[in-house]
Amino acid sequence: MSSKVILRPNYFAKSIKSNGIVAPYLMTRSLIRNFHDTPNKQNTTLGNLNFPPQNHSTNTTSVTTETIKPLSHTKSKLASNIQTEYLKDFNNSEIFSNFVIGLCTLNKPILNFCIKVFPYVPIPIIKALVYKIYCGGETIEQVKQAGKRLSERGINNMMISLTIEACEGNDNVDPKYIVDETVRSVKEILVPHTLKIIKESGKDINSIPPGYVALKPTGFAEDAARVLKHFNKDNESAKKFEELVEKAAIVCQTIYDANKQLSIEYPQRTAPFVVGVIDAEKHDLQEGVYELQRRLYAKFNKLNEPISVVGTLQMYLSQSADLLSLEESLAKENNYRLGLKLVRGAYIHSEKNRPSIIHKSKEDTDANYNQGISYVIDSILENKSNEKTIGHLVVASHNGESMKLATTKLYNSTNKDNKNKNNVVLGQLLGMADSITYNLIKNYKVDNVIKYVPWGPPLETKEYLLRRLEENGDAVKNDNGFPLVKASISVLFRRLFGLA
Ligand SMILES: Cc1cc2nc3c(=O)[nH]c(=O)nc-3n(C[C@H](O)[C@H](O)[C@H](O)COP(=O)(O)OP(=O)(O)OC[C@H]3O[C@@H](n4cnc5c(N)ncnc54)[C@H](O)[C@@H]3O)c2cc1C
Repeated sequence: MSSKVILRPNYFAKSIKSNGIVAPYLMTRSLIRNFHDTPNKQNTTLGNLNFPPQNHSTNTTSVTTETIKPLSHTKSKLASNIQTEYLKDFNNSEIFSNFVIGLCTLNKPILNFCIKVFPYVPIPIIKALVYKIYCGGETIEQVKQAGKRLSERGINNMMISLTIEACEGNDNVDPKYIVDETVRSVKEILVPHTLKIIKESGKDINSIPPGYVALKPTGFAEDAARVLKHFNKDNESAKKFEELVEKAAIVCQTIYDANKQLSIEYPQRTAPFVVGVIDAEKHDLQEGVYELQRRLYAKFNKLNEPISVVGTLQMYLSQSADLLSLEESLAKENNYRLGLKLVRGAYIHSEKNRPSIIHKSKEDTDANYNQGISYVIDSILENKSNEKTIGHLVVASHNGESMKLATTKLYNSTNKDNKNKNNVVLGQLLGMADSITYNLIKNYKVDNVIKYVPWGPPLETKEYLLRRLEENGDAVKNDNGFPLVKASISVLFRRLFGLA
């Protein structure tokens, strides 16, 4: 039996040190992997569609608690059609890429073979075969086009991420370049894209989600792993940590200024227009990351204003309920607001101290995650404008149950006119859980969905793509790829013969 997981909002027993930081969770580890090492899977999109379809309706808030049916309802012939229905929104080259992914994930031995040979496949071939479905592009212009393609599929905004990784602690990152490019991506991609959608969608301004830029703490300093681990232990790391905070703050200042400016032009909007999101890393770096988040919250999430900074909490951590309470209390005490991205957490396979830091079972993590999002959504919906401590939530998950829970809470008759609904946004990675994203938009008429869009130099992209394959490996059992292969061929065939 799984142990009970109880959220304790407003309750925490730990002491707060003078710098406002509690450091109860520090562990020693050396390797850092990017959160895309998540044991997530392309096949979620095919095997586990967890939403029953709704009747198409012109009502933009058509999901009600009454219309959400039990999950067993999805295990029907109809549901299996819906699982691949999303392919119809893709162009031919995207469908071809899905076909290739289907082939690679036909079964475990084939997938393992693909993972082995992948590092030797030349970049041009990779780009021709699978690049488009997982990555937004190499340049700002290409990412803009990716945003346009997503908006044609009803996905109103993105969380963009310049994918330059400091994976092993032997960093070859250039923090200045990352800051400059990220600032440029906010100004040249996110702001114009968000404004375009607001102007052209014809939808209520409060139904369009903000544009997000993901900020990797390990990208803001050379030897960032050491800096984040030792920020409160030795003088040199403390000094470098201050520089790291300053670098992240440059991006957040750009975001804050854009929000200030745009809220003058669009005073009726409750949510921010653009948001900086601090990604969560492996556990031994997290104390440094929490400190970074708190500094940025304090500077940019001012009382009675929309938030500009979102921090991440990994709900697979057994301490995460306490941590959520702690963050809320610190925010109250220090007069700033909280923005949160709740994830289950991506490093379960690589955490050496897993038994002592991560929930004992998947069920416990699920219960904790769902309680976490419920609590935060309720807090946000209590806001009349932007007066409460918790101001914004990204539900970052590919889990259909969690998506259903969030959607049910948001889109019911009680919250029909609640302007803070768009302060809760649902996010999935580009190329992952596409059937869930599709179903939310097409069948539930949900507007607040975004895709995480990585972009950057081709070599980094190659590593990102390899991890996508590895993630699929966690889910591939028998014939997971076959339905995707079948559906891709079927859509291409119907198009070829003018049947679609
Ligand atoms: C937009 C976006 C942003 C993200 N940002 C981050 C980030 O900054 N940092 C980060 O770490 N991750 C991040 N993730 C990845 C996220 O953590 C994974 O997508 C997530 O862990 C996979 O879980 P899921 O919610 O999709 O649900 P599921 O696929 O249902 O759950 C899988 C997860 O459950 C947990 N789990 C599995 N087995 C067990 C077990 N035996 N005991 C306890 N727990 C278990 C693990 O966390 C595992 O990853 C992000 C994802 C998205 C979509």
